[in-house]
Amino acid sequence: MATVGELLVSATTRLRESGSETARLDAEVLLASVTGEDRTTLIAHHERPIGEDVVARFEQAVARRAGGEPVAYIRGIKEFFGLAFAVDRRALIPRPESELLVEAGRVEVMARLTDPARTAADRGPVRIADVGTGSGAIAIALAVELRRRRVVLGNDVRIIATDSSADALELARANAVAHAVADAVRFYEADLLPPVLPDEAPLDIVLANLPYVIRSVIPTLPVATSFEPVTALDGGPDGLDAIRALLERLPDALTGDGIALLEIGADQAEGASAAARERLAGWRIGVEPDIAGLPRVLRLNPPWAGA
Ligand code: GLN
Repeated sequence: MATVGELLVSATTRLRESGSETARLDAEVLLASVTGEDRTTLIAHHERPIGEDVVARFEQAVARRAGGEPVAYIRGIKEFFGLAFAVDRRALIPRPESELLVEAGRVEVMARLTDPARTAADRGPVRIADVGTGSGAIAIALAVELRRRRVVLGNDVRIIATDSSADALELARANAVAHAVADAVRFYEADLLPPVLPDEAPLDIVLANLPYVIRSVIPTLPVATSFEPVTALDGGPDGLDAIRALLERLPDALTGDGIALLEIGADQAEGASAAARERLAGWRIGVEPDIAGLPRVLRLNPPWAGA
């Protein structure tokens, strides 16, 4: 019977030959996923024999990876913001950079909930939208994070999540159920935002990781990306089509002291800022870096916010 160590060595060789730059890690993650263990337990017991059924499933998984499919789709799971999300070809695999939107969204929510002026004005729940939610990762991670901080979901905050893909929304709903926030996040099939906002009330916070990859760049991306829905990546000729369309909606959708936080590509700081300046006269427009120091989030406040 093959041991853990032997299986990992042969799979690593195969994956390296197929072009994976993370062959050993891929092999470990995939073997752990078929044995149902975590990776550290698995690799701590190299001599352990593995049964034939598991070996067969491991070989299938390795074959898929050798064909270029991302590990996250083969496992069916991706970690994001410390949570496990179900992922499959219906939606983009959540990227670590997008955790910034969750973090920034949380800060904005908490600032509003602890603002005495806002409480005194009895403005009701803080309204949040995650536009282009895909797997639901941003909206759901934010809901879970707020609940951890004793924010009463549905009462203190209302979260909507939209996507133009009904398939993606099915996945997002399943993730919301899995994280016990299905009551707290309302999903809408819509191009960007629903034509009429829920409660006909403007939003306080708009978060969006829209497709922003330049169309002509898509064929040059790593093969794993070709397994993801192209509609979740394709931002048109300069990558900013979807972002521009959302910018157009913001003056109507956002309340006067609201904020929009839009993920952008590392080379889009200038282009996205210029697009915002053209459409949002008088707004405060900034770009924030990710942990790698690359421009990542376009931050937009209407004219009188924070004045
Ligand atoms: N960051 C993603 C990538 O480079 C792009 C995601 C997006 O278009 N929103 O593959």
